[in-house]
Parts: sequence; C-alpha cells; structure tokens
Amino acid sequence: MSEIKTKGIVVSEMPIGESDKRIVLITKDKGKITVFARGARKTNSKFLAGSQIFSYGEYILYKGKSSSYNLQQVELIESFHSIRRDINVLVYGLYILEFCQYTIEENAPNNALMKLMLKTLQVLVKGIIDYDLIMRIFELKAMSYIGYTPNVIKCGNCGLEDDNYNFSTILGGIVCTTCSNHQKNIIKISNSTIFTMRYILSTPINKLYSFNVESNILQELKIITNQFIEYHLNHKFKSLDFLYLT
Ligand SMILES: [Zn+2]
Repeated sequence: MSEIKTKGIVVSEMPIGESDKRIVLITKDKGKITVFARGARKTNSKFLAGSQIFSYGEYILYKGKSSSYNLQQVELIESFHSIRRDINVLVYGLYILEFCQYTIEENAPNNALMKLMLKTLQVLVKGIIDYDLIMRIFELKAMSYIGYTPNVIKCGNCGLEDDNYNFSTILGGIVCTTCSNHQKNIIKISNSTIFTMRYILSTPINKLYSFNVESNILQELKIITNQFIEYHLNHKFKSLDFLYLT
C-alpha cells in the first residue's frame, strides 16, 4: 500500500453503510480521486469536518488494491462553511464544484483550475462583487484552463479588425460583420463585452475581482458563456437548472 499527502477540495460526498462516506476530492497531485472515509459520519469522527463538501484541507491517503483511496488523516485548511448562509451563493458554489468534478480527470491534476476554484469560493463567501460576474469570470477562466479559450482579439474567420463584431461559438470567438453573414447561431456582442472578456482572459486571477460591469454586459456574457460551454463540453450541469429557475 502506498501513502500520499496532498491538498484537496471535497467536491461531492455520499453516505456509505451506517457511518462511512465516499468522497470525491480534487487534489493538487492526483487530479480527481475517490476516497473512502471510514466512520466519517460519526459525530466524534476525526474525519467529520474534512470530509464535508467544500472542505479544503491537507489529506493523507493510502491506496488500497482497488482504484480508490482510503482516508488516513486530514488537516482542515478552510471549510467554506458560510457558503451555506444563502441558497443562491450555495448553488453558485455547487456549480463550481460540479464543473471541476466534470472537467478534471483522475491522474490529471489541473492546478490552474484548482486555484481558480479556491479563489472563486473565497470571493463568493466574501461577496465583494456581483455574483453573476464572479460566475462569468470563473467560466471564462475555467474554459481557458481546460483548453478552450475564446478568441476575442480580431475576426477568427478572416483576421480582420472591425468596428463591430458578432460572437460565433462554432468559429471559436468573435467574427467581423461580413463573416457573420452566413453563419448560424451568431450572438450579438458589444465592444464593451469584448473588452470585458479580453480583460478577464488576460488578467491574473488574484487581480480580477475588483471591477464591476453594467447589467447589459453581464447579460451578453451570460448568453455567450452558456452557449460556449454547452457546445464544447456537450454537458448540462444539474446545479444550473436550479440557478435559472430562481
Ligand atoms: Zn471576418
């Protein structure tokens, strides 16, 4: 049996038997892994805090014969417990976890995405800028970290720099008015939204959460990122159903 020590975030938890749990961790060293936490649901368990969804900690695990790990020790770094104080914030948080659980694979750590996940949860808890903007920043950065960066520099079809553009997910980003003519599923995009996307994509995450934008820009960003994510990941996130009902 081999032992590993790694930082991780609990992205899902499932009760097993009378008092055990199976958790999924996004880790710094092993990407996404499944961990069995014996007795974690007992009120006096030393795993109680570190095995709850959103918990971020340093985990010591040992690998058994199967592909999953067993929890041996955990030192909690941050519980993100206050994310539960508001149902909308909680759902935004669950969406972040669901997105990362879907896009990060086993033995394929993505440290940029993991850092973004942590930072986004911290910013959500503090609530310093508009929640919708926090989500759009997360989505654009996250898509970029998994290899899908939308082109927002010049027309992705002919290379022309135009005064006005549309957005085409199929063509990977902004397209000039001429190239937009015969394209399907074109989305209108204002220059302010293009500037916002450029800023988000080119700014390091620790400097990103100090601006706000007008509601019309947020609306455009939402339509664009929705379509962009659905097209590239071909997946609907369960937590989003709840967000769009409210
Ligand atoms: Zn063009």
